[in-house]
Amino acid sequence: MGKPHAIMVPFPMQGHIIPLMELAQCLAKHGIRVTFVNTEINHDRIQALSGKEVLNDRICLVSVPDGLESRERYIPGKLMETVYEIMPGNIEELIQEINASNEDKITCVIYDQCLARIQEVAEKLGVGSAAFCAAAAALLVLGFNIPRLIEDGIIDNEGSPLSNNNNIVQFNPTMPIISPSDFVWNRSKISALQKLVFNIMKQNNKFMKSANWLICNSVHDLEPGAFAVATNITPIGPLLSTNRPGNLPDHIHEPDSDCLKWLDQQPPCSVIYIAFGSTTIFNKNQFQELAMGIEQSNRSFLWVVRPDSDKDFPDGYSDRVTTRGRIVGWAPQQRVLSHSSIACFISHCGWNSTLESVSSGVPMLCWPYFADQFINRSYICDSWKIGLTVDEDENGIVKFDEIKAKIDRLFEEDVFKERTLCLKEMISSSASEGGDSYKNLSSFISWIRG
Ligand code: UDP
Repeated sequence: MGKPHAIMVPFPMQGHIIPLMELAQCLAKHGIRVTFVNTEINHDRIQALSGKEVLNDRICLVSVPDGLESRERYIPGKLMETVYEIMPGNIEELIQEINASNEDKITCVIYDQCLARIQEVAEKLGVGSAAFCAAAAALLVLGFNIPRLIEDGIIDNEGSPLSNNNNIVQFNPTMPIISPSDFVWNRSKISALQKLVFNIMKQNNKFMKSANWLICNSVHDLEPGAFAVATNITPIGPLLSTNRPGNLPDHIHEPDSDCLKWLDQQPPCSVIYIAFGSTTIFNKNQFQELAMGIEQSNRSFLWVVRPDSDKDFPDGYSDRVTTRGRIVGWAPQQRVLSHSSIACFISHCGWNSTLESVSSGVPMLCWPYFADQFINRSYICDSWKIGLTVDEDENGIVKFDEIKAKIDRLFEEDVFKERTLCLKEMISSSASEGGDSYKNLSSFISWIRG
């Protein structure tokens, strides 16, 4: 009999690839063979950065088409819609190909829960399955509750908040308080995309029910309420590459490592780190207000401005901030956040960024933009109380003086740092031998090893 062999399929976006790749490394360390599947475009980017096809003798990176034509890549939602349709077929073919030519046959499929239709392939081929959630468990709980939300008249059959409905929803006293307009699917400005996300979430619930495992990159004590109401979710996080030595070829952008040398020269807890993940883009006005807010704070900063964003800096900006600021296209974020010079993180509240910040003991200034980022903000500001949120003015703009005022508070009020350090400690013990996440991950690995 061959070795256990897992095929792992992330949703094709940076924030989904990073934690699943980390899980792949854990499995490989425990003697499990892994075939890690990226879409061609992401595969080529990762290859270009890592320069090798096979990571070690246990992990093999392979690629499948994403089914998009170039022009379709700019249509919001097209990627989600297309990979949802074609990925199950791609994976079935790939498994058959691997099984025909390999003595280590595929024994289990680990798929991103956004691609839960792959569950049908696992069942058809008779292999084990695990759905992986790269977001907070609260997001899954929200999805599971869609029928109840409709029944209770909170949303209609298409997910929209019912008119004159000012309800806020909280599924458990320690869970985020969310208003229906902040439900993930409603946080898109395009109505076709709202419907798509809503429908996919409903379908995913059905598929995930049949998975052998539903694992989540979270920690029990961060979300006790979510795990109490959905006992089928197993937290195995945080999956962080800083837990492991060596470079991970999990980035699809080249990180600028020189900024770490610059951070080495800064005093402890003195630098603001600003980054909005892999997709968030500001409009020109908002970008300029942010630039001014950072400048007016009069503090040192490291700011990620991705090459694909409009870099509309105010006139003379670079010259004015050059002595105390660094602007990079992509940072080695986990290493930045764990650097002693970082005081706070201005973030869009993506779940990975949130976990990375909390695990490094860094308080956050929350600036959610779409999807689950509003749920995460509620955790950060209302449940854990380790950060503040920026408020928009009556025109929907976050002004520079608001940004400066909130940065000042994070620097001046020690309580945010104190609470974040407590959470950091808690997360670290959960991932250490004997902790909840450690035990869960060990059971999952034992199951794969059979
Ligand atoms: N990231 C990074 N360098 C950057 C910006 C982001 O390495 O300059 C990483 C970050 O560490 C995180 C991921 O990209 O692991 C972003 O995931 P998240 O869930 O926070 O946001 P998303 O990109 O999915 O919106």
